Amino acid sequence: VTTAIGNQSIELASDGGTDYRIVIAGEPAVQVRAAADELAEHLKQVTGAEFPIASDGAASGNRRILVGPSKALDALKLDIDFEGLGPEGFVIRTVGDSLVITGGPKRGTINGVYTFLEDVIGCRWYTPAFSVIPEKRTLSIEPIDIQFVPPFESRFVFGGCAGHIDWAARQRLNTLFFEVSVWTPGYLKTFIDHPKLAGSIYYAGYPHHTLGHNGLLPYAEFEAHPDYFALVNGRRFREGQPCMTHPDLLPLVVGNAKKWIKERPGSRILSISQRDGDFVNHGCHCSRCNDLYAKQTLTEVNVNFVNRVAAELVKDHPDVLVDTLAYHWTRKPPKDLTMHENTVVRYCAGGATCYYHNLDECELNKARGIFEGLLEWIRISPRVWVWYYVHGGDELHPIPVFNSISHNFKAMRDAGVKGFFIQTSWGTMLRNGGGLLDLQAYLFAKVIWDPDYDVQKGIEEFCRDSFGAAAPKILDFIKMVNDESSYIGVPEYGQSAVEEYPSAFKRFHTAGGWMTPMRPEKLRQMDALFDEAERAVADEPEVLERVRVVRLSVQYAVLVYCDSSDPIFAKALRDFEPVAKRAGIHHVRRVADRAEVVTSVFLEEQRALLK
Ligand SMILES: [Zn+2]
Ligand SMILES: [Zn+2]
Repeated sequence: VTTAIGNQSIELASDGGTDYRIVIAGEPAVQVRAAADELAEHLKQVTGAEFPIASDGAASGNRRILVGPSKALDALKLDIDFEGLGPEGFVIRTVGDSLVITGGPKRGTINGVYTFLEDVIGCRWYTPAFSVIPEKRTLSIEPIDIQFVPPFESRFVFGGCAGHIDWAARQRLNTLFFEVSVWTPGYLKTFIDHPKLAGSIYYAGYPHHTLGHNGLLPYAEFEAHPDYFALVNGRRFREGQPCMTHPDLLPLVVGNAKKWIKERPGSRILSISQRDGDFVNHGCHCSRCNDLYAKQTLTEVNVNFVNRVAAELVKDHPDVLVDTLAYHWTRKPPKDLTMHENTVVRYCAGGATCYYHNLDECELNKARGIFEGLLEWIRISPRVWVWYYVHGGDELHPIPVFNSISHNFKAMRDAGVKGFFIQTSWGTMLRNGGGLLDLQAYLFAKVIWDPDYDVQKGIEEFCRDSFGAAAPKILDFIKMVNDESSYIGVPEYGQSAVEEYPSAFKRFHTAGGWMTPMRPEKLRQMDALFDEAERAVADEPEVLERVRVVRLSVQYAVLVYCDSSDPIFAKALRDFEPVAKRAGIHHVRRVADRAEVVTSVFLEEQRALLK
């Protein structure tokens, strides 16, 4: 909600100088201090002026930028409804010749500073390596009164540039993994402790699949207690899902969960969630489990277990939420059960979802009950977050998911979704850019902050600023990527759906996370667009390089789908490697067992085809 109050525009800087001071509390929260630093740093870049930061004890009078709660702010006696702002909402308001940016205790103030810099001053943080900061030695702002409470309590982008501290903070992401140091060295290591990200939500332990994969039931238990583990085809299977009916399982999981919380002071959520993979080959089929599963659905068994863990944990840790997945064999909502008040259901219908069409309108999604299932989970749960799974391990592959973004995030907000885990890549690919990954991460960060964000305008702005004179060609490419005529049929994973829901397949559909084969003739057209795009910016090396990094996805698809006798095949093979190397794209995709297909090995295989 934006309303102008008063009628005084204020001049924050004049001809590279300022007499404004940034005023914060004497002992501000670390993220408020970080917010003041970010504001001073950016205003200096914009105006050339130094904006000193003073504590409120020493500051009075006018021409102040008051950042965060403080005595100086109290003295203004503004009618700010802090309760209504919640942990992350904020107010940006001109008061006389001063400016106030303040908000809720978790990340309200810092969210307000970034919103001010972006929406009022015009800063754009497109990627970790590329921002646009306007230069205005004289900086005036109109009277403003902005109040915003983010509609989603949890905002998590997994992939692209989202592992970068500055970028994540500036995009107002607020949910993080704890176990981040296992990924790209130096990139995410200090994520949790960083002042710019303080107040974020982070998981104790791994954020999903914790009942498997050596999580809350550690493999070390296997030797003494094979009976804790799944009975599959007559043998105990250490890597499976636990035996959910074993009487020791609940105390064991609760005990380990408490240990995880203790090891990660400050964590606000912990996941109790099934192993990845299907149930037939990974679930327990002992007679006791079989008896229970004859009476309850797989979802119901999971929900009952998670509710019992939550009821135990809440006694010692009322502030830690218990997250579980509604995924694969637990995706369909239970009947006649409700979730414990301290739980989060993360709804992961991604692999079965068509993202080409709107979630609630596509006939395949309807046949599969994707949106209806979400609504039902929302009805029985205190909070539902959505795992939006647009990309699996094949990140350089173009995917047609942009057309539905704007509609989908508004529809999910209106339905009552409270948070998002957006997956645009897989694990160690985090640092990789390439293709449209950076743009994807940017757009998703924007819509999970505010679903009313204008996605099409965002795409155009991103392209205009990033690609300059090449922007029109890149926009044509993006249009082709998001047009069904560029693709052949349905992705491999969707084949079973073709048989299951034949009537839905009178149209083209995608399957989240799975790549849709592309038409060689369309790839030739895309390749030609990039020839023109590169020519348009041939004398601007930085812009040219950004164009080439996007082009990698076309070259990758050419190498996958075009015949090696096609002239663009040899051309793609020649041009891919040096750009990928400079961009640090160490592998081109990850396959089903999550093994990496290393770029040089992939290219070697393609070279062999040429001979
Ligand atoms: Zn069992
Ligand atoms: Zn569809």
